[in-house]
Parts: sequence; structure tokens; C-alpha cells
Amino acid sequence: MNDCIFCRIARGEIPAHKLMEDGLTLSFLDINPVNPGHALVITKNHYAALTDIPPDEMRALAEHLQRLACAVSTATGAEGYNIILNNGVCAGQVVPHAHFHVIPRTSSDGYRLGWRQGKYGQGEAEAICRKIRDNF
Ligand code: 5GP
Ligand code: ZN
Repeated sequence: MNDCIFCRIARGEIPAHKLMEDGLTLSFLDINPVNPGHALVITKNHYAALTDIPPDEMRALAEHLQRLACAVSTATGAEGYNIILNNGVCAGQVVPHAHFHVIPRTSSDGYRLGWRQGKYGQGEAEAICRKIRDNF
């Protein structure tokens, strides 16, 4: 996808604060960080959804993500971090090139993820469990 902003960053056509890259993956700072050090990691090839990424590139992405989380939290002195992937517009995905966020966190940073939790009714957990298992 030629005009994708993250593809353009991967090709070096627009600037970014790059952190690490290998043949398949690239990490760089998010331009509007939740906290300093908030970073993104992508495959260099364009895939809109996590589920579009082929297994070898997914493995490289997962390994890069783990190393990035370690580097970001050590460098920033964070007490923890959030790893987030917004998949689909309804889930908050703005850039349609799959990417993980690594957001370094401290207990005093004042950031709260909006997390709504419910409860299962009678039989609902078993039913959704069956459906998910059938789709592996
Ligand atoms: P999404 O909502 O798609 O999960 O997140 C997209 C992220 O990309 C946002 O956090 C946004 O700040 C970041 N972003 C958007 N455009 C650019 C850009 O041109 N450069 C960089 N480094 N980050 C960007
Ligand atoms: Zn792209």
C-alpha cells in the first residue's frame, strides 16, 4: 500500500524516530505519546489486520515486541507497560497497518485505560467457549 503512513516510514520516505529494525520488522516512537517512550512496532510489509500477518513475520514481530518492551521499560524506568493492538476501526485502529503499542507506565502517570467489564449469564461462557474453540 503506497500511501500508508507506516509503509512510508518503513521505506524511509517520511521521518520517524526509529528504534530498531531487522529484515521484517521496525519499531519507532509514536508521534503523540501517552508517556515519553511510547513506541510502535510493525512488520515492514503492509498488513491491515493482525490476522493477515504470515507466521514467519508474526514470529519476528512478537520477538521484536518483547525486546522493545524490555528496552522501553529499562530506558524510561517505567514500573510497567501496556501492550495494545487496536484491530479494526471499531476497536480504535486509526492507522490501517497492524501495529503494537508499547506504552511505558508509572503508578503516578494519571493515565487510565477505559476498561468495562461485565458478567456472563447462565450458559453464556460455555456457549462462547465452544464457538471460539470451533474456530481455531
Ligand atoms: P491506532 O489508533 O491506529 O492504534 O494508533 C495509531 C498511532 O499512530 C497513534 O498513536 C498515532 O499517534 C501514531 N501515528 C500516527 N501518525 C504517525 C506518524 O506519522 N508518525 C508516528 N511516529 N506515529 C504516528
Ligand atoms: Zn502500510
